Amino acid sequence: MRRKTDNPISKSAGQSPLFGSHLSIAGGMTNALDEAARLGLDSVQVFTKNQQQWKTRPLADDEVGAWRARVAELGWTGAQTVSHASYLINLASPDDVLWGKSIDLMTVEIERCEALGIAFLVHHPGAFTTSTREAGLARIIDAYAELFRRTRGFATVSCLENTVGSGSNLGGKFEELGTLRAGIIGRTGQQQRIGFCIDTCHAHASGYDLSTAESAAAAIEELDAACGLRNIRVLHLNDSKAPCGSRRDRHEHIGKGTIGRAGFAAVVNHAGLRDRPMIMETPKGTTPGGTPLDTLNLRKLRQLAGLRSGERTRGGVRAS
Ligand SMILES: [Zn+2]
Ligand SMILES: [Zn+2]
Repeated sequence: MRRKTDNPISKSAGQSPLFGSHLSIAGGMTNALDEAARLGLDSVQVFTKNQQQWKTRPLADDEVGAWRARVAELGWTGAQTVSHASYLINLASPDDVLWGKSIDLMTVEIERCEALGIAFLVHHPGAFTTSTREAGLARIIDAYAELFRRTRGFATVSCLENTVGSGSNLGGKFEELGTLRAGIIGRTGQQQRIGFCIDTCHAHASGYDLSTAESAAAAIEELDAACGLRNIRVLHLNDSKAPCGSRRDRHEHIGKGTIGRAGFAAVVNHAGLRDRPMIMETPKGTTPGGTPLDTLNLRKLRQLAGLRSGERTRGGVRAS
């Protein structure tokens, strides 16, 4: 458990959003955890390897040990750590060579998460390119049968991320994600190993209007009906530069895009989505005064979640 149960103030244990950010592992994997601590975050997302390369050096034992030790030092559990798989992977590809390479790399991604104790591995479902939507979905299910055969007994949960649904990219509709997960479970029987990651920018750009409290609540209801909110294991909190339904993937700072504050308030305060890692993939950098942009976005999210600015959710001192 991530909160001390002997702390009488921590009545809200399991209730607060675990705000986090996608952070760099440049210079060493634990640098992402150090940066998360500096920013006062309660979760983190990383690439566990250079995400633009097929080849990867195996994790060294001391890297694994250092990561696990730092997670423990922060008082975190693996459920506060998320990995994003390489964008090179296309489990829906009709091309046997690319498909085989994708399964091999996805196997490595799962193995790395398992070694590091990272609970969730997020990946985009894939693109059917020259085949058909149905063939693409079948291809992903076949890929998962092989992945789960190779990694039998592993705990890491693979999370299918919704996309803006451009071109032949699968996963633009919640129903499609739901169908995919059902197909994977039907084939493998491994329902505990497959969940979802919902990205607010992608949802909005693919046509689920998140810009008002009412429309966002309706979209979350649709999501529940198609996927089951309990299966949403990770959220990506990004505002959108592009309009609802544009099918363009352009991340914007929280509250500054076409979603806006009302939509984020609806998401972060939804009773069915609490206590999930909620990862900002918003543009990085600092203000001219040196304040990290993640800090500004975090402050907005905490305000929307009813937490005072700068207040940590993890120590059980949540404002009420
Ligand atoms: Zn995302
Ligand atoms: Zn995106």
